[in-house]
Parts: sequence; structure tokens; C-alpha cells
Amino acid sequence: MTKRTKGICRLCGELTTLSFEHIPPKSAFNDQPLVFQTLQDRIQGRSHTKFRIALGNHSLCERCNNLTGAWYGAAYVSWARQGFEWLDYLGENSSIQIPFRIMPLNVLKQIIVMTLAMSGEGTIPYHTELRRFVLNREQKYLPPHYNVYSYFTATSKPRFESGMVVFDARNGSMNHIDAELAFPPFGYCLTSTRRQKRRSNAIEKGLYDIGWFSHFNYNLWTTVYLKMPKLQTHTPFPLDYRTPEQIAVEALNSGE
Ligand SMILES: [Zn+2]
Repeated sequence: MTKRTKGICRLCGELTTLSFEHIPPKSAFNDQPLVFQTLQDRIQGRSHTKFRIALGNHSLCERCNNLTGAWYGAAYVSWARQGFEWLDYLGENSSIQIPFRIMPLNVLKQIIVMTLAMSGEGTIPYHTELRRFVLNREQKYLPPHYNVYSYFTATSKPRFESGMVVFDARNGSMNHIDAELAFPPFGYCLTSTRRQKRRSNAIEKGLYDIGWFSHFNYNLWTTVYLKMPKLQTHTPFPLDYRTPEQIAVEALNSGE
């Protein structure tokens, strides 16, 4: 897909021609055709074409697209490939620590690029520090107020939502979700606490905080042990990981 459109780049903020940003990035696929094939295999039965169209946005200028792809793309693909290797072995309620050999800062920054690319133009002024963070490949430490969470997911429905406030009726909390992206083998949730007193419900939902990936140097390979949950994403709603059975039961109850 090479359709172009005029707009504001979600990273550099310039008004220019934007290309369709594939999420996960096209550059990573192009560099790693085998992984591209693996991703295709994994999402088969869920309509690959539809997936690609849904998980993408006219959001980055050519330069930002190429730069971030070159800086973070390969590290991201390696991370995703390892995730696929574990995905089938994990039970729904697994709580084991899994070793990953990755470049943590690069992976985290690619995830942030993806979530920013998902966001609308109107959110650009809110993410100045975050945009700076990913446009400077060497910069460490996630800007304050932001959290990035990760989980395993194998479920068929991708989740691609941004800029939502989620009200949890059970505990009365409000959660500002800057973006949630679920694309097997992983799901990610970017939250900010700037406009809320309470911290996000993501922790209570069991999501794994990967903000500490930002403590590593750029391009540094290391082994990390991660205890990420495996969650299901059957609805478009951020932070909703109900199983089909739970959804059915709640639908029954609400109809009474
Ligand atoms: Zn740009």
C-alpha cells in the first residue's frame, strides 16, 4: 500500500506528505521476510489484508518512518519472533518468567512509535516529550507520566484504539488510554497519568509494565526475564480481557 495523504507527522510535527504506516512497521517486514511470513502464518484465518489495513494509519512522514524503522525495526522483529516462539506454550493463566534476548530500549521505542502513529493529529501537542524520546535514539528513561504495558495475546481480534478514557464501573476509576494495540504475539497499552490522579487500571488487569526497558542503552543486547500475562482481546475496548464465556455471562446478566 503506497497511498499518500497530506497531514501532520505524529513524530516530528511537520505538515507534509504522510505515507501509510504499517504497524508493525513495513521496514521491519522488508528487512525480515521470514518474520513477515511468520506473522502472516499466525494471523491466517483472520484475513491478513484486513489486518494490514486496520492496523495502520497515514501518520508518519517519510523521514520519520525511515529513521525509526532503521533504528528500532530489526530489534522489534527479533522481539516479536521470540514472542511467537513462546506463545503456544503459554497457558491462559501462566505466570512464568520467560527469558528474552533483546535490545530493550529499541523495542520499547518501536512500541511507542507504533502507539504514536496510531494517534490522531489532535494528540500531537500532548506528546511532545514522548515524541522527543523516540526521535532521539540515544535518550534513556521514559518521560514522566507515561507507562507502557505489555502482554501476550493470541486472540483473533486485533485491537487498535487510541485516545480513550475508560471508566471502570466496578471500582469507579477513570483510565486514560493513549493507545492500546493488540497484534499477536503481543498487546501493548500506553497510558498517561497527567490528567488523572489515580494510576491506570492496567496494573490491576495484570498487564506487565515494560517502562524499565528505557533504562538500557540504545542498541544494547541483554537477557531480560519477563512475567507477562497471556490475555484475550475479543472486543475493541481497551483494558477488556474478558474471555468469550465471561462476555456471554455478562450479556445474559445485563439483559435481565
Ligand atoms: Zn516526521
